[in-house]
Amino acid sequence: MSAFARQDRPGNPAHNRRTVSPSQTTPRKPLSPPGVPGNKLGSVDSNVVFRARALTKVYRMGEVEVIALRGVDLDLYRGEFVVLLGPSGSGKSTLLNILGGLDSATSGEVIYADHDLVRATERELTEFRRHHVGFVFQFYNLIPSLTARENVAAVTEIARAPMKPEAALELVGMGERLDHFPAQLSGGEQQRVAIARAIAKNPEVLLCDEPTGALDSTTGIVVLEALERANRELGTTTVVITHNVVIAGMADRVVRMADGRIAGSERNRERRPPSELSW
Ligand code: ADP
Repeated sequence: MSAFARQDRPGNPAHNRRTVSPSQTTPRKPLSPPGVPGNKLGSVDSNVVFRARALTKVYRMGEVEVIALRGVDLDLYRGEFVVLLGPSGSGKSTLLNILGGLDSATSGEVIYADHDLVRATERELTEFRRHHVGFVFQFYNLIPSLTARENVAAVTEIARAPMKPEAALELVGMGERLDHFPAQLSGGEQQRVAIARAIAKNPEVLLCDEPTGALDSTTGIVVLEALERANRELGTTTVVITHNVVIAGMADRVVRMADGRIAGSERNRERRPPSELSW
């Protein structure tokens, strides 16, 4: 059995909806309770997907130490859309990489499905990344010799309960471009293929590091619409790193980082549609 078995998803409409097409889905509300950070260690709320406590990260480069995280406490709730905001160098990518099992913390803990990722073996982290997390980066990292459909299929072929590549591409508005190669697509279109690839394996969490960082605002908004739709229709917990404060308006919750710490966490009264954002 998987070391990182999926947790039960009580009350989550996304539960058991692992192979649906977008047309079969219904909008969902985030289940996260108001007020964060939430519960004490040891009494993990079933709506908490990740629980980070006292997380530190120190990069050592010879004699020099760079402290990237200085004791981060953060809970991420099932189905919520979180914007992680903060200036360059504040530790956003470091935190995201640790949550996604790409990097390991120096101390502290990250609880996911009753496992502490900080103490996980390399093999466990590989399994965690493969089956439970989708990543979207600033640069799309598509395989140039594969079509949009094949880029997505490369991931779904090794996934346990994937969506069909066509359904994932349809969900991000790329259903008409299945057989195009990356070089035949614009930057925004390539990013939407990258989002389709990330969501098609039905991850529990989608982690996005500056997904609109290389795009103009019009194209960026179309990409944000794709992320918003994936979050709403699939119920995938989504974290988006940005230094663009405007994007915070589309989130359920905005977490601000400064100097390796969580400087604040506010819940938006409502999510603004990306189409209403401009920068
Ligand atoms: P942000 O994503 O908010 O821009 P980062 O998490 O990338 O911030 O970086 C936080 C701090 O950690 C910065 O001072 C950065 O220079 C440092 N840092 C990040 N990654 C490394 C690394 N691999 N080696 C050394 N220092 C790093």
